[in-house]
Amino acid sequence: SKREGFSVIPNVKWEDVGGLDYLRKEFDRYIVRRIKYPEDYEGFGVDLETGFLLYGPPGCGKTLIAKAVANEAGANFIHIKGPELLNKYVGESELAVRTLFSRARTCSPCILFFDEVDALATKRGKEGGWVVERLLNQLLIELDGAEQRQGVFVIGATNRPGVMDRAILRPGRFGKLLYVPLPSPDERGLILKALGRKKPIDASVDLSALGRMEACENFSGADLAALMNEAAMVALEDKLTSTKSTSDAAPCTIKSTHFERALGKIS
Ligand code: ATP
Repeated sequence: SKREGFSVIPNVKWEDVGGLDYLRKEFDRYIVRRIKYPEDYEGFGVDLETGFLLYGPPGCGKTLIAKAVANEAGANFIHIKGPELLNKYVGESELAVRTLFSRARTCSPCILFFDEVDALATKRGKEGGWVVERLLNQLLIELDGAEQRQGVFVIGATNRPGVMDRAILRPGRFGKLLYVPLPSPDERGLILKALGRKKPIDASVDLSALGRMEACENFSGADLAALMNEAAMVALEDKLTSTKSTSDAAPCTIKSTHFERALGKIS
């Protein structure tokens, strides 16, 4: 979805997300079941948060899990990159924020996802200057209108939670903070399995063992995606060279040697 503020139900499924079980459970409680079975929540008088901030290193699944939540809930998803809202003329940013929330309400249930939300919510009086300040104030106004925000959930994502204005992290705003860490060795295996779901991985390949390898230390999900893609390319290259133009039965699975060669290429 290239168009700014365009809404669709994303096609990312839970199975496409490796690891992050804790987040999955939280979002199931706070968003998915709430949209699908609102009656389950009635009568308890519980005030549940509708705004979330995912923070942590780049490429670890913040965008991916937000999309999976929307898919699972059957909700629309509006993806906004924070800096896009800033690149507007004076006054236009505020209007863009208002329009965004009103569009989200029209297509509720909806998840409004703010990528690089720190760009919009830097500490007042610091980096941003008054353009950011006015934008932030407008954002706070919209976030505080929670009663009128029925069925609209907001998720922000940032690599720099420390620069954000405290005011925006209060309950009712981006009130629930959720850390998205680098994957552990076992989680790397789970991510590789999720990434390999639709790829012809050879039965002899042990993705859990691959994930635990030292060569993958400190890999993010995005690094693992690059590894998986490179391995598929190396395997494809093998197949293309061995078959030439004939349609002979050729090696068409991704084997351990392909992963080894891919590791050599990307690291
Ligand atoms: P950024 O902070 O850079 O925006 P992000 O945390 O939002 O990063 P994503 O965009 O969700 O990261 O991840 C980038 C890509 O890396 C995904 O499209 C996916 O291919 C892969 N990836 C990252 N984390 C995971 C994961 N937990 N499971 C499966 N794939 C993952």
